[in-house]
Amino acid sequence: MDKTHAFRPGEFAMIDRIFAPLATSPGALGLTDDAALVALKPGQEMVVTADTLVEGVHFFRDDPPELIAQKALRVNLSDLAAKGAEPLGYLLTLSLAPWIDEDWLKSFANGLGADQMEFGIALLGGDTTATPGPLTLSITAMGSVGLGMMIRRGGARPGDLVFVSGTIGDAGGGLAVLKGEAADASPSAREVLIGRYRRPTPRLGLGRLLPPLASASLDVSDGLLADLAHIAEVSAVGIVIEVGSIPLTPSLRELWGNSDEAVIRAATAGDDYELAFTAPAILRERVVAAAEAAGVSITEIGRVQAGSGVLLLDRAGNRLPVEKSGFTHF
Ligand SMILES: [Mg+2]
Repeated sequence: MDKTHAFRPGEFAMIDRIFAPLATSPGALGLTDDAALVALKPGQEMVVTADTLVEGVHFFRDDPPELIAQKALRVNLSDLAAKGAEPLGYLLTLSLAPWIDEDWLKSFANGLGADQMEFGIALLGGDTTATPGPLTLSITAMGSVGLGMMIRRGGARPGDLVFVSGTIGDAGGGLAVLKGEAADASPSAREVLIGRYRRPTPRLGLGRLLPPLASASLDVSDGLLADLAHIAEVSAVGIVIEVGSIPLTPSLRELWGNSDEAVIRAATAGDDYELAFTAPAILRERVVAAAEAAGVSITEIGRVQAGSGVLLLDRAGNRLPVEKSGFTHF
């Protein structure tokens, strides 16, 4: 790993020792070189994605370091899943705040190590620096996909079906609980929701089966409706969603109830890291079979049509106004 700026003297070597065991692929060269090597099989191309997490914005200082590490890695793996890619490796850039100590770093590395085992990916390199500001960590993940097979946002066509994996709104509910909103939710429901906020599940098993099936795909980070609006915009189509079909967990219903407003809140909350994708109607059975093979639930929630934007219909088929379609960064 390159080292820039002054962290506490002598501690960069310690940091290297903590992270070197994570660099298990031969191309990482044990983190002893300026760069890493990534081999691609013939007929494959590389998919690259990056995400940055900032203390106080994306996580809290007293969150468990293992979970901060896993969220940082998993949001990137989720992007690879959405594109239909297999994970190859990742780069980690750490801007360490003054409050970080060796125990924190070791726990952070342990979290990464556990997820490397679970998802079949390894550290390739990165950079470590010190900052007087908040802890900032950035991961760049690389994956591979068959030449020309990456699922883009721009391929949705009128008549396609809209699917979402898993359930929507749990992470938003978990964040609400962490902020003190617990209302009538039971302790076990609160625990489920917080877990979904802190440790999303990248849908790699489903994603790798989607390139021959899905016409457009992304992972839900900004909020289901906002992210579907991204597909609608890039694909130059309209998307119609039935509010009653959006899948919510019993835990979230305990917290927010069963009303249309509760579903809209779930669909605008964000941080789900589920896959939202479109596929031609003729491929419906194959999409369902792929989800079954991957062991991931999917739900058909709507349809692509000519036009623009995302239209939300209530259970009676009437148009629902949505004031805030999701989280915007600026
Ligand atoms: Mg994404």
